[in-house]
Amino acid sequence: MVKEIKIASIKDGTVLDHLNTSMVFKIVQLLNLDKTNNGISCATNLESTKLGTKGIIKVSDKFLTREEVEMISIISPAATLVIIQDYAIQSKRKLDLPETIRKIIKCSNPKCITNMESVTTQFDVLEKKPLLIKCVYCEHIIENNQIHIFGE
Ligand SMILES: [Zn+2]
Repeated sequence: MVKEIKIASIKDGTVLDHLNTSMVFKIVQLLNLDKTNNGISCATNLESTKLGTKGIIKVSDKFLTREEVEMISIISPAATLVIIQDYAIQSKRKLDLPETIRKIIKCSNPKCITNMESVTTQFDVLEKKPLLIKCVYCEHIIENNQIHIFGE
């Protein structure tokens, strides 16, 4: 396995490091990166001392919204978010799950008001690892492997 891969450095943009390697292409899709003209580099199955394997995504000229960052923290909890400005690291932080998750996730209860009317979904995070969330409207509890993200 390749220990280190040189991915073209970017002038301005975002680097997502320590991604769950199986989620890299899903994140690309959920961020709509497959439909933009931004320069994108992706790598999967890189060696990581912490995680075993990891994935990386670098995107030029894109800075993630709060909602996008939360979405990544849900599907790849160990991720690191790095902001690059003028080839230098401007900030670097490990993502953490919020206490409540708004939008992003769909309630799996078909009778929930969020599935009947245009009500924004909202969930309380009960457990972070593995993720366990509760819908604030119908109190339906959703386990990690049943979580459905909008846009999937
Ligand atoms: Zn619900």
